[in-house]
Amino acid sequence: MIAERLARVQERIEAAARSAGRDPASVLLLAVSKTKPPEAIREAFAAGQRDFGENYVQELTEKAESLADLVGVRWHMVGHLQRNKVAAAIRVANVVHTVDSARLAEAIGNRAASPLDVLVEVNVAGEAQKSGCAPAEVGSILAAIARFPNLRARGLMTVPPFSDDPESSRPHFRALRVLRDAHGLADLSMGMTVDVEVAVEEGATIVRIGTAIFGARGSGVLSHE
Ligand SMILES: *Cc1c(COP(=O)(O)O)cnc(C)c1O
Repeated sequence: MIAERLARVQERIEAAARSAGRDPASVLLLAVSKTKPPEAIREAFAAGQRDFGENYVQELTEKAESLADLVGVRWHMVGHLQRNKVAAAIRVANVVHTVDSARLAEAIGNRAASPLDVLVEVNVAGEAQKSGCAPAEVGSILAAIARFPNLRARGLMTVPPFSDDPESSRPHFRALRVLRDAHGLADLSMGMTVDVEVAVEEGATIVRIGTAIFGARGSGVLSHE
């Protein structure tokens, strides 16, 4: 079941990459497993998936612990990160996608005991109540990251305004790419189940897919949504 869903998502990525003249291998599929049980991650891992994204530090650390036997698994923190949870998060995470302030960069840098990949989360649409920095703040956050030899600034991440219409994400993805190029970074973490094709067309190097792989998330205390 999950293996088939994964294969279908890979096909979507490949088709979008080809039609955009891109190498499909230049797009990393990150399976966002929030609210899903460790067994679902095991199933995806058995099908060849290695990169998994989680939104909540406690859920991340619990799953990483119960899945410690999965050699080669890589954990990505894709949810908002509070400074008081940095130590717990980076004990487990290989990549943090959600650095959105210089203070958070410093908190991570001060605690990183080994090299850690980070991305700066940008609120490209300037939505109120949403995490992510303003586009104008990216430079100062990158400067804060650069002070720590263990932090490697890989790129930029965004979550565009929610919409059922994938085309509504395009201008936001495009804006993120322009910003990424202006700062000379490598990665663009953008695109979810509804708009993965548009993201790949606009240059995504990491797409974060939950629903299309693991099914819909229930509404309940575990959904956090
Ligand atoms: C939940 C989530 C995703 C995956 O969303 P789907 O629509 O289920 O594919 C991607 N990125 C972030 C930051 C998320 O919170």
